[in-house]
Amino acid sequence: MRILFLLPFLFLLNLIGLSQGIKEVKIGDQVWMGANLNVDKFQNGDPIPQAKTNSEWIKAGKDKRPAWCYYQNNTQNGLTYGKLYNWYAVHDPRGLAPKGWHIPTSSEWEELSSLIKKDFKDVNEALKTKTGWKNYETGGYETGESCGYCNGTGQRFSSLSYSYITCVICGGTGGDRRYVQKRTLSGNGTNTSGFLAKPGSNRFDDGDFNKNIGIVATWWVFSEIESEETDAEYIYIDNDSYVPKIDKYSKGFGSSVRLVKDDPEKKERERIALEEKKKKELLEIQLKEERKKQEEEQEKIRVLEAEKKEQEKKLQVKIQDSIKKRQKEISDSIEVENKNKQLANSLTSEPIYYTKNIFVSTNDIQLVVKDVSTFMDKYLDKNWRIPSVKEMKDIIDPRLFVKHYNYVNTYVVYCLTRDADYLCWDDNNKLVILNAKRRGGAASPITYDFNERMCNSDETIILRLVKDK
Ligand SMILES: [Zn+2]
Repeated sequence: MRILFLLPFLFLLNLIGLSQGIKEVKIGDQVWMGANLNVDKFQNGDPIPQAKTNSEWIKAGKDKRPAWCYYQNNTQNGLTYGKLYNWYAVHDPRGLAPKGWHIPTSSEWEELSSLIKKDFKDVNEALKTKTGWKNYETGGYETGESCGYCNGTGQRFSSLSYSYITCVICGGTGGDRRYVQKRTLSGNGTNTSGFLAKPGSNRFDDGDFNKNIGIVATWWVFSEIESEETDAEYIYIDNDSYVPKIDKYSKGFGSSVRLVKDDPEKKERERIALEEKKKKELLEIQLKEERKKQEEEQEKIRVLEAEKKEQEKKLQVKIQDSIKKRQKEISDSIEVENKNKQLANSLTSEPIYYTKNIFVSTNDIQLVVKDVSTFMDKYLDKNWRIPSVKEMKDIIDPRLFVKHYNYVNTYVVYCLTRDADYLCWDDNNKLVILNAKRRGGAASPITYDFNERMCNSDETIILRLVKDK
């Protein structure tokens, strides 16, 4: 009675012992089971039905009921590879995984792959056990790029039969068929990850076992969104690829299960990582803004400096302009001075003629109106003076107005050939302009006041000077 009571208790102790004996593999933050799942009970203790025959396996799939089996229904295979479960066992609400464990999702598998990829190019090699995988052959005929003989068409024109025939080089495939030396390679891995992936193969929904035991390992991928679909995801590694690949098959498919440990702290770690990432991003944004501000500040300084330079340049131009203007004024005044001197000199050297008790200069002195006063002040000889209007009228009489040609006492009489403004004194001792108009050979003069306005004029007037006898 006492012993009977103790029996189930001992059994329970044994179970705990088993679960504590699970080999764990830590890869990054993940903790994986070091072997494929081999349980025949759900987490709540309910047994998972074993499919012992082909028909039992097929029926379970069709009835959408959970089932497990050993590869080739051989218990020995269970020791090496664990059990093969159908999708319904994996997704049974009673829980296939023992407490604290779960069936990994595709993102958990990807995390595993990318973690190993950091250190090893061949992820599969790092996952695989050092023994147990079969050798495989590579090489033989391979179809590569487009066939050069038929341009990839597979057909070539024959001038003998005058028709298109199958290309003899690529045999009509259009591909560049080449032979690569056959080699036998080991399928074993290095197990550097400690994952201990064994080639447990799989079972199809029609009950057939995949013959590729020793060549391929498959595991279920847990997905919550595929429950209504006919096909479900599983992941596999085989002999001639570098990373685990995800594929789909019917839910009646039988595959190994590899568990990953629940990680209640994972969310907290992810939250902290996310927070740190956000902080870093914020810091980067702040730095970027700071840099932008500095750049803007520098740009402002550049603009100000450019403006200052521009102003300095303008000022320089202004100064230069005023210097030039002053220089021109000086040179202009020098020019006027010289011209006046020249004119003054001509007073003494030029020929004259005599009429009505006065001598008259015979050359016109052309003078800009505004220079008249300077000329009068500085250069008008006492003996030479500007004639009165009356005198001027006499002088410009065409019969008296003569030009002297070299010979003494020889005069040539000729008419005025143009209108001209002569400067004269009027009766009130005011300067006036006598406009001599040519009209049929006789001048008919009109006088104007030599007023203030005219004093700044650039117009030219003529001086014909006289000298008392
Ligand atoms: Zn060809």
